[in-house]
Amino acid sequence: MNANVKPPFRAETMRIAGKLVRTDDVVEVKNPYDNSVVGTVPAARAEHVRDAFAKAKAFKPTLTRYERQQILQKTAELLRDRREEFARLITAEAGLCWKDSLYEASRAYDVWSFAAQLTIKDDGEIYSCDISPNGKARKIFTTRLPLLGVISAITPFNHPLNMVSHKLAPAIATNNRLVLKPTELTPLTALALADVLYEAGLPPEMLSVVTGNPSTMGDAMITDPDADLVTFTGSVRVGKHIANTAGYKRIVLELGGNDPLIVMEDADLDKAAELAVTGATKNSGQRCTAVKRILVVESVAEEFSKLVVEKARKLKCGDPMDPATDVGTVINERSAIQFEGRVNDAVAKGAEILHGAPRQGALFAPTVVDNVPYDCELVHEETFGPVIPIVRCPNDIAEVIRISNSTEYGLSSGVCTNRLDYVSRFVAELEVGTVNVWEVPGYRIEMSPFGGIKDSGLGYKEGVVEAMKSFTNVRTWSMPWT
Ligand code: NAD
Repeated sequence: MNANVKPPFRAETMRIAGKLVRTDDVVEVKNPYDNSVVGTVPAARAEHVRDAFAKAKAFKPTLTRYERQQILQKTAELLRDRREEFARLITAEAGLCWKDSLYEASRAYDVWSFAAQLTIKDDGEIYSCDISPNGKARKIFTTRLPLLGVISAITPFNHPLNMVSHKLAPAIATNNRLVLKPTELTPLTALALADVLYEAGLPPEMLSVVTGNPSTMGDAMITDPDADLVTFTGSVRVGKHIANTAGYKRIVLELGGNDPLIVMEDADLDKAAELAVTGATKNSGQRCTAVKRILVVESVAEEFSKLVVEKARKLKCGDPMDPATDVGTVINERSAIQFEGRVNDAVAKGAEILHGAPRQGALFAPTVVDNVPYDCELVHEETFGPVIPIVRCPNDIAEVIRISNSTEYGLSSGVCTNRLDYVSRFVAELEVGTVNVWEVPGYRIEMSPFGGIKDSGLGYKEGVVEAMKSFTNVRTWSMPWT
């Protein structure tokens, strides 16, 4: 394993129905650690997006379930074989540390291989009609068909391979055509993935990748007349813009989070502190489901916060290419400056920094902040970096739940308790899409339903199984049956 080999400079092209398309204007992709230019991608204009949708719409996919399963499984295997190559690219363009990038690359195998396995299963249903006095001797069948139009997919920077995979794999599994616009911050991984798919045998008309600045071509992705459904993962701000712009189109929105890790008085504090630190710092804290607030009851807060500091001290923050690094950079210096400002604001309001280091460019070290007032920006907004904020709560589960529910977000949560009465209240009363007992909020498998409520999403789930459902039309048909 050699993390220290930088990937060669990539002057990339778009992939429109498999054709390599350039533009005069380009967008530079920069390494957040040293600001070197990793590559460039074309700055598409609205007409490129239109062309991609028109070509996709004109193509009628005819792949059998077996053919789709073969393409998806082959993709999984190619990604597994090229894990390090992908990890290098991810670290170079996202600044995620080598360990995180290797994990990112290996997770993708699951997404593609689960989609392959699910493709061969027909989930049609049968309803017998002779079941009431109004019944008839008939049966009603359901079958799922691909969308009539094209899927428009827009993805964020924080998981450059997996957020894209979670849109592409279920789309291909259901025989859909798709136009992808990866983020301008980490588009190179998405383009490399498209090439793996073509190599695995995907008809190129089924997948186009357009790149560029959202200010000039973003709306074209949302309003194209051939787009049937817009699937978006990213911030609340852009998600709401899509909801306002898409008109009569289906939309699937997977938006930001502000997930709590809740620590009750009966918890094994060492185990809880481990979850808190891992959950807040993995992927440089840039997971929609990262631990963004640690809600710990007063009676154990003092002891718990010491354990958190002990564990945070062990993390090495630095050069993302160094295989020993635990926390690389955040996506850019601008974001790091914003987190710094939020930490300072919390301190001005009474919080205390127990561990941290001065910011260096986009390097923002894991920072433990205790006694954070629960309504300050650091924990009320989504702070998308490796801050570990401890909010001390009254020794009362009703208050803990009230504080947890006091943000606009509702993605996921983790709870540390062994009391069944507490667990059942958290499951019933936390306003979130997921409650993980004794796990970080981000725990999932790639096919289980995943997604948030409130500002975190409209309630439609992702995960391969649910995404395959949302990418299909259910046709019911019936016939006489004696
Ligand atoms: P972002 O919203 O800034 O960008 C996401 C995508 O939207 C990018 O491709 C961007 O180019 C595009 N975009 C921006 N403006 C647009 C416009 N006007 N029209 C069309 N497209 C536009 O998000 P980000 O900073 O890349 O990602 C971080 C955010 O994503 C965080 O809030 C995080 O919580 C969220 N996220 C959510 C999930 C989830 O599953 N709920 C998963 C990962 C990330």
